[in-house]
Amino acid sequence: MNKLSLLKPTGDPHLGNLLGALAPMAAGQDSADCFYGVADLHALTVHHDPARLRDATRQLARLMLAVGLDRSTLFVQSRVPAHSELAFLLECTAYTGELNRMIQFKEKGRDQPTTRVSLYTYPALMAADILLYRTAQVPVGADQRQHVELTRDLALRFNRTYGEVFTVPEIVVPPTGARVMDLADPTTKMGKSSASDAGVIRILDTPDAIRATVARAVTDSEVGPDAVRADREAKPGVTNLLEILGACGGSAEGITTYGALKSAVTDAVVETLAPIRARYADLDDASVSMVFEEGAARCRQVTMPVLAAARTAMGLT
Ligand code: AMP
Repeated sequence: MNKLSLLKPTGDPHLGNLLGALAPMAAGQDSADCFYGVADLHALTVHHDPARLRDATRQLARLMLAVGLDRSTLFVQSRVPAHSELAFLLECTAYTGELNRMIQFKEKGRDQPTTRVSLYTYPALMAADILLYRTAQVPVGADQRQHVELTRDLALRFNRTYGEVFTVPEIVVPPTGARVMDLADPTTKMGKSSASDAGVIRILDTPDAIRATVARAVTDSEVGPDAVRADREAKPGVTNLLEILGACGGSAEGITTYGALKSAVTDAVVETLAPIRARYADLDDASVSMVFEEGAARCRQVTMPVLAAARTAMGLT
């Protein structure tokens, strides 16, 4: 069964990327028909610095190998030209009403005169990313639900209008870790563009940095034997810590104070990230590039017939 998931090379990958996407991607690798990539074209939709984009692409590629994505086909999106070409065909399938509703554009771009046009149209590129690989499952964090829904709508509309070309994909979000929240502001999701660094754990953070970030985590003022419990509405900080603890393989059994909870979270996160940091340090850029170039070559082959079928169905010669 084909799977696809891409990550944007913007900023340093964080614990949310790991628990919401990379770890489930690694766990679900059942064949080379898992296509996992670095979405460098998506990084161009907002102001960017070319040198930093190049570095972030290299870093993310290396990290994907370090988290254990070694049985999948790995690639950098812009090395597979079919993505951009199918994106245009899908822009000719999508409606402005649909793109106007997309959260990223509504929150980050609408009504700002220097918003890049691509921030408005990128959901069509994302749909192309998914549909080009006849993807059945898209393992991503819960924040991606709207994108996958749009992709399904476009695939169904295209198939109805021009004939059956695309597989209609399904989103698969992990049972825990689907939405890791910022430790300093647990009502917003942990993100590379979080308002401050205070509540973000990066995958390559040292144990000391992790300890400091968890120690600062916002909780609440409740005390007593039942204070350590999950309640997303009333206790977002504690709930987030409990979810991180569970997703990192720890248990809150017998823990009754926030201090003990933070220490268990620190241990579980450090234990989860340490082997990734070690593998990251052992990898070198040349071997990472080779894996990704071979992957891109396979992707060019796999996507060619799908793009050709879409072109023909739409009447292009
Ligand atoms: P991005 O960094 O936006 O390219 O996201 C890459 C992947 O990480 C996507 O599958 C997202 O759903 C996932 N992701 C990003 N932030 C979080 C978060 N705070 N919690 C869980 N998953 C996340």
